[in-house]
Amino acid sequence: MSEPYLRPLPAKSPGTEPFWEAAAEHRLVIPKCQNCGDWNWIPYPGCRTCLSEDQVWTPASGYGTLMTWSIVSRGPPGFPSPYVTALVELDERPRSMVMLGNIVDTPHEDLKVGMRMQVVFEDIADEDISIWRFKAA
Ligand SMILES: [Zn+2]
Repeated sequence: MSEPYLRPLPAKSPGTEPFWEAAAEHRLVIPKCQNCGDWNWIPYPGCRTCLSEDQVWTPASGYGTLMTWSIVSRGPPGFPSPYVTALVELDERPRSMVMLGNIVDTPHEDLKVGMRMQVVFEDIADEDISIWRFKAA
């Protein structure tokens, strides 16, 4: 029997259903503008480059580069410590696209700016959600 998941869960806001459906299948999808071809993370109704609303949820590689991180030694209730929150610059460009997430399965002492990272998904037991994490690629 697994322990209950006590950390707050993300809200599935309207319009992000394709993201959560793909996450449940352990796939990363990100809105891609059909007008200029740019990627838009975090999801937003208009493209940040050309303001077009013509965006399609598109499979992304799930790979990127570690930009920065913070090791939290004592977190709020429900957060097993220590844990790492990081910013990872995803490979999909040309405009810089940074994704916030926790790092798992990677020793904290191994973290280095510029190291290769990949998205992995954690299925939350007894909750209808899968959440992205990063680990060393
Ligand atoms: Zn655009």
